[in-house]
Amino acid sequence: MKRYDVVVAGGGASGLSAAISAASRGCRVLVMEMQAQIGGQGSPAWIGDSLWKRVPASVLARVREVRLRSPGASAEVRGELGVIIDRRIFDRGLAARAAEAGAEIWLSAPVRDLLVRDGRVAGVRSGVGNWSEEIAAEVVIDATGSSGEWSGVFMRKVAGREWSREELAFCGEYLVANFDAGGVELVFNPYLTPGGHAWVYPCGRGMAAVGVQGIRINPELALDEFIGKDQVEGLRKSMPVAAFRSRFPLGGPPERTYAAGIVVAGGAAGQIYQLSPKGLSQAVRAGEIAGEVAAGAISEGNVSEESMAGYEERWRREIHNDIQIGSELRKSLGTFQGRKMDALLSRAGESQSVRRALVNIFLCRDLRRSVRAILNDPRASGVLGGESLERLLS
Ligand SMILES: Cc1cc2nc3c(=O)[nH]c(=O)nc-3n(C[C@H](O)[C@H](O)[C@H](O)COP(=O)(O)OP(=O)(O)OC[C@H]3O[C@@H](n4cnc5c(N)ncnc54)[C@H](O)[C@@H]3O)c2cc1C
Repeated sequence: MKRYDVVVAGGGASGLSAAISAASRGCRVLVMEMQAQIGGQGSPAWIGDSLWKRVPASVLARVREVRLRSPGASAEVRGELGVIIDRRIFDRGLAARAAEAGAEIWLSAPVRDLLVRDGRVAGVRSGVGNWSEEIAAEVVIDATGSSGEWSGVFMRKVAGREWSREELAFCGEYLVANFDAGGVELVFNPYLTPGGHAWVYPCGRGMAAVGVQGIRINPELALDEFIGKDQVEGLRKSMPVAAFRSRFPLGGPPERTYAAGIVVAGGAAGQIYQLSPKGLSQAVRAGEIAGEVAAGAISEGNVSEESMAGYEERWRREIHNDIQIGSELRKSLGTFQGRKMDALLSRAGESQSVRRALVNIFLCRDLRRSVRAILNDPRASGVLGGESLERLLS
């Protein structure tokens, strides 16, 4: 049986960040990716922080204009409003760094199950067709995301449950060509995307990412309806050249994200800012912490549950508050969505600070200050409903 210090299940942003972190601390690392390529499912992403600097070549476009629209109101914001990145280039850039640090990467290698020995996770079982293999590991990092057919090995085997349909938001996206350039568009239509929204991210060179997310929706139908109804001027003559289907858990992270010999990071751990959805920064940071904790535990020869607990303590301290705020905002804005977004956007039309704060909130940028700005506005605060948000800000 092959043996590694760390086996990372999933070669997305979180898994590759974990691999860089563990391999650069001297661990023998294997990344197992079920697809035949790194970044294969990655549609373009909008990010508001400096994460792109890790792979500068991944930047497709700078965002200087955002338009928010609900059935009865709209607001526009201009400024430096983040960048759109190509996830394939971004993830492959991380893969290059993981390989430089000494990690091995296997493609078309799905992790199907965890090996459990003497009460701890001791490796993984992989296999496709008539190939099947068991691989031993001191620590397994589950970074399988939340979208794949086999995502969530930790949830199934360690937490002992699956996400039910009601706990998931469903998303559909097209990469379209022949798009007439404009800014980012966020469209809130409670009939088309209940509890969610539709978006257009211009990617430069006549391309754009067009997506929808919502609860209990058929994403393909909602997406076609969104494009077909000519809701966005620049999409009139556009043509899809790639389609993506994905989902993310609404329940947030499980109560516990570690056990003896294993931690779970990124989308697989529900570390997603649900409002927009955003999660790349959280996935990368959680992956880095996971790799560091795994390397520390291995060097001390102790991969017990207590030793892995340091991972949970650190990610909750660093990124959990944003995730909780995103979940509250989604719940609050998801009910009576049309009326609430109408009220918020009419107020945003009058007040520049509310306008800017609103975009930051969808971008998960400068989050606490932006939520505070809205709660301090006498006309906008009532829409968000303050109590639980106040608790998270205190
Ligand atoms: C529709 C949508 C739009 C989004 N837009 C944005 C955005 O604009 N900005 C932003 O910051 N965030 C965005 N997010 C969130 C972001 O995509 C995720 O937070 C991020 O991708 C999580 O990274 P990850 O590495 O944990 O998971 P993933 O990126 O999903 O990577 C998981 C990897 O594991 C592989 N895998 C799955 N199961 C197995 C298995 N059993 N064995 C081996 N490999 C496996 C998959 O093939 C994949 O490569 C969006 C999410 C969705 C759903």
